[in-house]
Amino acid sequence: MAHIVTRFAPSPTGYLHIGGLRTALFNYLYARANGGKFLLRIEDTDLARNSKEATKAILEAFAWVGLDYDGEVVYQSQRFPLYKQYIQKLLEEKKAYYCYMSKEELQALRTEQEAKKQTPRYDNRYRDFQGTPPSDREPVVRIKAPLDGYVCFKDGIKGEIRIGAKELDDFIIARSDGTPTYNFVVAIDDALMGVSDVIRGDDHLSNTPKQIIVYNALGFEIPRFFHVPMILNPQGKKLSKRDGAMNVMDYKDMGYLPEAILNFLVRLGWSSGDKEIFSLDEMLSLFNPSGLNSSPSAYNQDKFLWLNAHYIRQMDNAKLEDMLSAYHAPSLSETAREILYPALKERCSTLVEFAQKLLEITNAPCEYDEKMRLKLDIEAVHTLKELFNEANSTAWKSVPNMESYLHDYSAQKGIKIGKLMPSLRCALLGKSGGIGVCETLIALGREESLRRVNTFLTLYNNH
Ligand code: GLU
Repeated sequence: MAHIVTRFAPSPTGYLHIGGLRTALFNYLYARANGGKFLLRIEDTDLARNSKEATKAILEAFAWVGLDYDGEVVYQSQRFPLYKQYIQKLLEEKKAYYCYMSKEELQALRTEQEAKKQTPRYDNRYRDFQGTPPSDREPVVRIKAPLDGYVCFKDGIKGEIRIGAKELDDFIIARSDGTPTYNFVVAIDDALMGVSDVIRGDDHLSNTPKQIIVYNALGFEIPRFFHVPMILNPQGKKLSKRDGAMNVMDYKDMGYLPEAILNFLVRLGWSSGDKEIFSLDEMLSLFNPSGLNSSPSAYNQDKFLWLNAHYIRQMDNAKLEDMLSAYHAPSLSETAREILYPALKERCSTLVEFAQKLLEITNAPCEYDEKMRLKLDIEAVHTLKELFNEANSTAWKSVPNMESYLHDYSAQKGIKIGKLMPSLRCALLGKSGGIGVCETLIALGREESLRRVNTFLTLYNNH
């Protein structure tokens, strides 16, 4: 295959949207899977709507998910002189022309066309204008669109697209202040950056014929296009904040892992058999834009959590510990970590939940579940102290040792294990549920466990 060059071209109007990240991912995978290049271009020509903070936020999100791009970021705002040259070239070659129509004239034309139930379009009045232009107006520059026939292209997802000349008009490529317009600069940049394949949202489908007109006028090679259907919510409507976070970085705050986000997004609109879990390496070996779906995909929050839980379970403990520090997780002894992490990996879907559950274990309870406390077996509670006194250092060495010690102890004292355990759990954690009692004991260690039991017994005896 010829050299693949793809790009992601966000407009920095806010945060990086998950839909945008999905587009970026598809482009990234296609380039990387084929030893090609993946470029990043910031489309910041709309000076009123763009901000440096938004650009920073997009770059930050990129860094967080680990999508690396080739070369330097291209900023459209730095390329105005270049765009000017191409406008000039088209003017000289008579493939573009100055149009002096005033706003009022344009409005009058539109009103007239609407009255005749025609689609509003420019009427080419300055296309071949030979007269003296009005001196009181700064003209715009319009490109000559074909007068008849079709603009055609083969979309990698939508198939053959054919737009009749009647649906296109001589659109503006430079405003009266000289600034170039969106479709013009996108085409110039994609061509000059050597982009071979454009994968983008199908909300851009109507821009493509205009961009093709620019390619043709300048004699540039036209890239392949893939217009990806939108991500919808489970009800089939446009995805909104109500369905989940839209900002990629919000998912970080909510304790999602980049691996899970990428895996979740790659499956929104792309499939490879019925496989659901894809490591980045697997995505790279399996991704091909021919697997992109032509129908919209639906955002499924439960699946997202399921994937996140999967990647949390998979993560090695040292890396997990490192990540958890950003979520105010307590620092643990190595023993505690090696016991608590595997236990919580089975129970948590996000890092926020993981950190929270760790804190619930490492922070001594400040209250005891009343219902649980009232149901405890008094005899079992009163034996807790003795239980600690008799536990020797072997019992404290490991979870299985502790388990067998507690069983022996309960048999010896004639107290059912099913009565002993809830008492211990209540004393140590203050509530029912959660990880095993023996795990908790070993993770907390003798001293802390005993301290909690003593605190609990004092309160219990005072009741
Ligand atoms: N800047 C456009 C956007 O953020 C993307 C343009 C393109 O991919 O061609 O929607």
